Amino acid sequence: MPRASSAVGVGPDDSPVVPLGRRDPRGLAHVPSRAGSPASSRIAVSAAVSDEDEAAGELASLLVGNGIRRPFVVASEYGRRLLGAVAGTVGGTGAASGATQALARASARAARRAGADALVAAGGGRCLDVAKLAAAGAGLPFVAVPTQLSHDGICSPVAVLPAAARCVSESVEAVAPRLVFFSIPTLVRSPLSAVRAGIGDLISNPLALRDWELAAEAGLEHIHLEACQLSIQAYGLVEPVLDRPFTADDVTPSLIRVMVKALTKSGLAMTAMGTSRPASGAEHKISHAIDELFGGRARHGEQVGFASLLATTLHGLEVDDLRKRLVNLGIAHHPRHLLLSLDDMVQVLLRAPATRPGRFTVLEKAALDEVEAAALVRWVWPDL
Ligand SMILES: [Zn+2]
Repeated sequence: MPRASSAVGVGPDDSPVVPLGRRDPRGLAHVPSRAGSPASSRIAVSAAVSDEDEAAGELASLLVGNGIRRPFVVASEYGRRLLGAVAGTVGGTGAASGATQALARASARAARRAGADALVAAGGGRCLDVAKLAAAGAGLPFVAVPTQLSHDGICSPVAVLPAAARCVSESVEAVAPRLVFFSIPTLVRSPLSAVRAGIGDLISNPLALRDWELAAEAGLEHIHLEACQLSIQAYGLVEPVLDRPFTADDVTPSLIRVMVKALTKSGLAMTAMGTSRPASGAEHKISHAIDELFGGRARHGEQVGFASLLATTLHGLEVDDLRKRLVNLGIAHHPRHLLLSLDDMVQVLLRAPATRPGRFTVLEKAALDEVEAAALVRWVWPDL
């Protein structure tokens, strides 16, 4: 009999969400998943810390306890073991790194035909996004079981997937997970680069909030205090990690619990707003421009951490503390780490505003031309 998983507090005051690990007679139907409710995803963390099979047993019990009897499963290679104990599966599909929106549509049709009562996905970001979109298409609740914590989009209602093979990924509206299960044994063994990227994604939160303030000052948007609080709390949770070199020895069950809390808070800030505004500003636009122009040179969170150097400078803030933190974290902090030249960086800066039209950030305020963009890049990296 697996031990009961624990719920983590993710509200602004850290109050626990609905307790998990015991049966909820209402099932999942009452849990809202639309934007506007910061409590839209229930969060559970495994009691198991080292045995993945034990965590798999907890997941199976959790699904039954939440009224899921006929799940359609979507698994990546690393997620299969976690789904091994799930009972009553009516069908399933594998989702590799090349998965597309077409696979999501096919999965939605298959799940509906099989009479599934939920989509349950275990894997990395791409796998979860396939299931997120498939669940939206099939009109079914979605349960996410991430095998990596490399970004803060796990609890968001947005899927980032290419329409077809060889296309650039695009953000499409999907559904937020009704339930997220974090397996500590799985996440502790996930690639170090994924953990680093997850922290890198959170580094940008204070900058995103500054951008939001700029939009409010320009009379374009209103600030949502609760979303701001969640976003800044998420950053505050990982900030202490950045003060010394981050190594594989730092990836402990307690760090994973902190990251779960931080990434969940950041995700909930976005769900509360229905957009990524509280955790995505100029630095995200710069990362998207790298994706569009150069096909992506690192994980999303790593590129965002890197791009935060430029956003920090554009905001008129001192950049060396952040640079030191990126060095400690062990992620890209110079264009050469992403194989980008001065000219490439200028192109990136000129392209960045168009990656998300309508979102006012310090990039739009600066309205850089080619000469100014080159001067900015040289200011941040005089040796480029
Ligand atoms: Zn991000």
